[in-house]
Amino acid sequence: MINGSSSIFRSWPGAKTIYLDPGHGGIDSGAAHRDAQGHVDLEEKNLSLAVAKRLAELLNVAGYNVLLSRDGDYTLTKFNARETRERIKEEAQARVDLANDSRAALYIALHFNGYAPSLSKTAAWPC
Ligand SMILES: [Zn+2]
Repeated sequence: MINGSSSIFRSWPGAKTIYLDPGHGGIDSGAAHRDAQGHVDLEEKNLSLAVAKRLAELLNVAGYNVLLSRDGDYTLTKFNARETRERIKEEAQARVDLANDSRAALYIALHFNGYAPSLSKTAAWPC
């Protein structure tokens, strides 16, 4: 089941729409950071959502209409405990479908990948 995208900001008639897609959500936490005791203290799903909400506020104040693929801790599709390749593909497709349906001028997917400390790096994937 698809929860659908949401708009929680002021709508500007005639303004360009930007679609923000905070990665992961719900049972899909994405990358995680562990503290010195090994406890998870930061999950990608929460960070991407926080950044998306803040970015949405700033873009909206700047005069853009903004849509979010999610505005809470959930996935757009049913996502079981097992992340199968098919489930991940289905979730990604749901997000792309909503972005296409929104006819937004720009789609921004927000992710914070994790790597072993020895592999620290920044990555960008232009589409
Ligand atoms: Zn991610």
